[in-house]
Amino acid sequence: MGLVTQVFREDELQPLSGSMAIGHTRYSTTGSSNAHNAQPFLVRGVHGELALGHNGNVVNALQMRSEIQERWGCNFTSSTDSEVIAYLLTNAPGQTWEERISYCMRTLKGAYSAVALNHDTLMGIRDPLGVRPLCLGKLDGGWVIASESCALDQLGATFLRELGAGEAVLINKDGLRSFIWPGVEGRRTLCVFELIYFARPDSTLDNKLVYTTRKAMGAQLAREHPVEADVVIGIPNSATAAAVGYAQESGIPYSDGLVKNQYVGRTFIEPDQKLRDLGVRLKFNPLPEVIRGKRVVVVDDSIVRGTTTPHVVSLLRRAGAQEVHMRVCAPPIRHPCHLGVDMATRRELIAANKSVEEIRQFIDADSLGYLSVRGLLKVVGGASGGFCDACFTGNYPIPVQLEMDKLVLEHPQDSV
Ligand code: SF4
Repeated sequence: MGLVTQVFREDELQPLSGSMAIGHTRYSTTGSSNAHNAQPFLVRGVHGELALGHNGNVVNALQMRSEIQERWGCNFTSSTDSEVIAYLLTNAPGQTWEERISYCMRTLKGAYSAVALNHDTLMGIRDPLGVRPLCLGKLDGGWVIASESCALDQLGATFLRELGAGEAVLINKDGLRSFIWPGVEGRRTLCVFELIYFARPDSTLDNKLVYTTRKAMGAQLAREHPVEADVVIGIPNSATAAAVGYAQESGIPYSDGLVKNQYVGRTFIEPDQKLRDLGVRLKFNPLPEVIRGKRVVVVDDSIVRGTTTPHVVSLLRRAGAQEVHMRVCAPPIRHPCHLGVDMATRRELIAANKSVEEIRQFIDADSLGYLSVRGLLKVVGGASGGFCDACFTGNYPIPVQLEMDKLVLEHPQDSV
């Protein structure tokens, strides 16, 4: 348990031998945060040992787990959907990995970008809707698969391409082969929230640098919600690109206004509410000379629970801001995510329970403006489809059980 740099030390990695490896940094969307749920999972089945790491959320995991237990007698050790994928893949009917992966794609419902490894083959698998990202690169004559292209850059690998929806690549000593599951309907629904917040700005997603996409979102936000102000600042670092876009489009000067403490992680992914609240206070420090006496536009990437935002507005007021105009580079989040982002339950989502004006009062801003769904989709090129926007619209790309709990595999009786 812990951060990669704390857990994996050079002296532990050095003795590892072999020509293939997989790893995973866990972000819990099913199961609690404990060592049993850490990935990759190593399982044994009809087709031998298999290790698997997964990003996303399988919505029919509970049903699949019972079926797998009944059919193959598998002994699950965790409460995650990732172990369900691992057992299914290593027991799936079929002579080849292509046939077994096809079986999994037919059977599993939801979002899964996965890497898997057996004794001779490395696999990268992206679900038929392409909800979560997965990309392919080359390094020193070998291959690298990662969720985001920024990981390839840091290894010195060359980014080749993103995997398509329903695509799998199989890599062994003979090279790489790729196949697209024949059942793919050509209906991709990439998570638009990856572009808003989740992906790193230096990654390429949907053939564009995420930074550029976020800047364009900020410009659209300025067109939709103009305001008379003296300075535009962004919540660092996730809203910096959007703030620059807002400033350029509005003609209001951009400045850094808040300094982020480098040693505190993202607040909304802290699994515990108390840690999240503490995180906000530790996280930002304002630059009073930039802010004092000014009408400030502050751009944030999104408001999820609304726990962070009032603290930010109050920090800016205490630093002397004359007016604080909050601009949010996402539409109001009114619906929970069931496809791999651990946002909140509907009860916790501030926009599911308050109007925009009530939120403005709650956060104590002079004005509040959200990017529209239409504006967002126009910027990302999704006006006629291609993206999941369910947390804003409630239009899930597949049927989901609306109040599904992330701990459903720990106490399955509660969900039936
Ligand atoms: S519901 Fe929202 S966060 Fe979840 S996959 Fe869809 S767009 Fe992404």
